[in-house]
Amino acid sequence: MGLLALGTPLEWPEAKKRADQVREWGIKQLLEIWNKAKGKERDALLWGDEVEYLVVTYSKSNERVLLSLRQAEILKALAADQELAKAGGCVPALQDTTSSEKSHSLPVFHPEFGRFMLEATPGKPWGIGFRELLDVEPDMKLRRKIAKDHMRDDEYPITLTTFPQIGIPGQFTEPFYPVSGPRLRSQFVPDEIANPHIRFPTLAANIRSRRGRKVQVNVPIFRDVKTPNPWKDPTVNYDLHDWPEDDDVRNGAAPDNFIHMDAMAFGMGSCCLQITFQAKNIDEGRQLYDQLSPLGPIMLALTAATPVYKGFLAGTDVRWNQISRAVDCRTREELGEEPLKNNRWRIPKSRYASNSTYISNDSRLRQEYMDPNLVYDPEIKTKLMDGGMDDRLATHFAHLFIRDPIVIFEEDLQELDLTKTDHFENIQSTNWQHMRFKPPPAENNIGWRVEFRSMEIQVTDFENAAFSVFMVLVTRAILSFDLNFYVPIKKVDENMERAHQVDATLNEKFFFRKNPFPLRPSRANTAFGDDSRPGSAIPSRAASPGAVEDEYEEMTINDIINGSQDGTFPGLVPIVESYLDSVNVDVETRCELATYLSLISKRASGELDTTARWIRNFINAHPAYAQDSVVGDEITKDLIEAVVTIGEREASSKGFADTGIPGVEKFLGKFRSGRADAAEVPQQPAAALENGV
Ligand code: ADP
Ligand code: MG
Ligand code: MG
Ligand code: MG
Ligand code: MG
Ligand code: MG
Repeated sequence: MGLLALGTPLEWPEAKKRADQVREWGIKQLLEIWNKAKGKERDALLWGDEVEYLVVTYSKSNERVLLSLRQAEILKALAADQELAKAGGCVPALQDTTSSEKSHSLPVFHPEFGRFMLEATPGKPWGIGFRELLDVEPDMKLRRKIAKDHMRDDEYPITLTTFPQIGIPGQFTEPFYPVSGPRLRSQFVPDEIANPHIRFPTLAANIRSRRGRKVQVNVPIFRDVKTPNPWKDPTVNYDLHDWPEDDDVRNGAAPDNFIHMDAMAFGMGSCCLQITFQAKNIDEGRQLYDQLSPLGPIMLALTAATPVYKGFLAGTDVRWNQISRAVDCRTREELGEEPLKNNRWRIPKSRYASNSTYISNDSRLRQEYMDPNLVYDPEIKTKLMDGGMDDRLATHFAHLFIRDPIVIFEEDLQELDLTKTDHFENIQSTNWQHMRFKPPPAENNIGWRVEFRSMEIQVTDFENAAFSVFMVLVTRAILSFDLNFYVPIKKVDENMERAHQVDATLNEKFFFRKNPFPLRPSRANTAFGDDSRPGSAIPSRAASPGAVEDEYEEMTINDIINGSQDGTFPGLVPIVESYLDSVNVDVETRCELATYLSLISKRASGELDTTARWIRNFINAHPAYAQDSVVGDEITKDLIEAVVTIGEREASSKGFADTGIPGVEKFLGKFRSGRADAAEVPQQPAAALENGV
């Protein structure tokens, strides 16, 4: 999560006074990077994934599953072992490297917002080779194993996006802390839920303070047959009088039919799967940023994994809007609830939102695709243009820079250091858009990068590897075929909303470009020119662009991923396959990649359930579920048990090609027929996982 500098953080009233200084220095640092790196060429096509985990305490004998708050201790243990490993010491847990011949460096573990979270990345970015794509899944499994090896026996790293019982009344963390602390002022979660590093509680407190009330994270309740109508969130306490913010719920913050949440942890406590790509130069980076943007909502819907909040089934399937609301620092003026007086702009979106700009120099980028109401700081734009930046990119950064820096360390304001990027990153890394354009950092040899941020984390590493590898192949196809996915950016916003609907993959349609092939001749013409290939039915391209509205139509996820029934849209998986046909991939690698593409394809067609659907089915089939939208202790424990068991089985097998989440049917069978006997649930001997240090 960005920088973790140490120092004295300013409380909001003080930070606010220094915001202009941070922006001004940030822009100077950005121009410094720009001037140094704009001509950078021939950077390698590297990429890297980020996997986030929840840490839960679970044991067969314990009735309840809790969130473990031992992130700091776990990270410390991991760091100590990694130091030892680097120094050539013998650390059994770290020795079992990937199954492929080529050994990759050890994974890296990072802190995250939640004190019950971990993040892990590969030790170094992945390269361009196709065989290397096969190292991703073993590396992800290794990360999980190493993480587990540094936890207590009853702690597990799991890759659910959200903990089903976060914020329920009573105990849901280990250890227990009372709610209603000074930082979050939440009536549902304790301050101790956030990473204790001063950056995180300050971020939460200053967002609340800037906003002038607590964040308001309301998710519609999923209405089941026995769910009361209207439904009133029974966990809301209207009689709390610890903080002024306790008035929020008395003033209507918790409307009927919504699960009400009131703290950053409900959003930033969610796990996702992010992929960062390095481009060969800035132009290619800008192209990737634009072409991947319209895929954000599609991949969000396809990876849907978030059907439960605070012990209730939600009426939505993904985490996105909850995170957006959980860090929404906009004031009433900025939200348009009061006339502008102290603030400069009405701001239509939270700082966590789908992106609002396209940035490429691509001649196919039409003005009509841009957001006509984009808010940006004209003075900052002028400064950037005076510094030599072109209009489009200057607009992008001037848009990001409408935000205030939220966490400012006193020590950093003494002197501007142009060899650093800290002030720029302060604003940049708290603009959590679904794409991020990452300029090269100051001092090392890294190129222009683009981050794809919308995907939800999946239960197994097979799935996480599949989605990562798929996105890598999509980017290769984009570059190789010069694909064109442009639709108006407002349609991407609309798609983002649609991605939230329950089973959006099956039931929703998304605005998508009808013809992804370039107007200008390119290799795509040959790759798709032959009748046996998907896409052959694509109508010949018009010489001059027609109405923008004719360029796109509403398609299902199945159309977009697998190709439309009438053959007019080729489908992303067939495009990737054509790309693979056009390059040299050995048979074995191709076969392995096919298992990943098959997962993506079957998820899109509905042959395999999304993770969200799987969780919903699990809950629905559970004997303790009363069809009233309540996800209680017993269901939560069994769900986590299923997830832990799946993880253990996956660790000990080679992969689960084609089955999606393994063992689902078995687990569901168990719960459909009432309480299972333990023998039905496949178990790995715990010892297999506990040979660490
Ligand atoms: P952030 O949290 O700011 O998005 P991280 O440092 O956690 O960034 O990780 C981003 C990902 O980018 C990691 O998977 C990492 O391996 C990868 N990465 C690092 N350097 C490069 C690079 N030069 N090109 C592409 N990916 C990179
Ligand atoms: Mg992260
Ligand atoms: Mg990260
Ligand atoms: Mg980071
Ligand atoms: Mg995160
Ligand atoms: Mg990231």
